[in-house]
Amino acid sequence: MKIKAIETVYKGYRFRSRMEARWAVFFDEIGVVWEYEKEGYDFDGIHYLPDFWIHDWDCFVEVKGDPSGLEDGLEKCRLLCKMTGKTSFLLYGTPDHKLYQMIFPPVEHDGDMYCGVENPNKILQCRRCDGHWHAHIEGWSYGQLGNCSPECNSDRFPILSDKLLNAHNTAKSYRF
Ligand SMILES: [Zn+2]
Repeated sequence: MKIKAIETVYKGYRFRSRMEARWAVFFDEIGVVWEYEKEGYDFDGIHYLPDFWIHDWDCFVEVKGDPSGLEDGLEKCRLLCKMTGKTSFLLYGTPDHKLYQMIFPPVEHDGDMYCGVENPNKILQCRRCDGHWHAHIEGWSYGQLGNCSPECNSDRFPILSDKLLNAHNTAKSYRF
């Protein structure tokens, strides 16, 4: 079944789908600064407008309503990551404690280039501050999404905090 997207207004933005608006609510609830459809990019004649730019995480977010759009979303995220050198996060469905594909650009470290990776991650919260982390559960590896305080040295695994749980619930039940 094809689910038709319903335009939804939230905070003065006209979202193309209800699901995108729910993710905007989620970002507000956890306190990250976002911009909707900030800037378009062209790849060999293909115009692509990323759904969200998350300032605090220094990454793009593409939202898909349901899993049937994931293949298309993944392709867009890969292109976006390649063209901008920024991490792209592919989110789908209502905000939840689920694994979401992240596409990382290649990075230079101590003069060596490390190739970009793609793996599914959950959004978790730092135990020490209000910052957010992504966690690749399989290997228990985790990395900073970018908004821990500068003096924060999270040396323990980040958690699914009450703040995140509340944000999931608020986003799911928000009445537009
Ligand atoms: Zn922290």
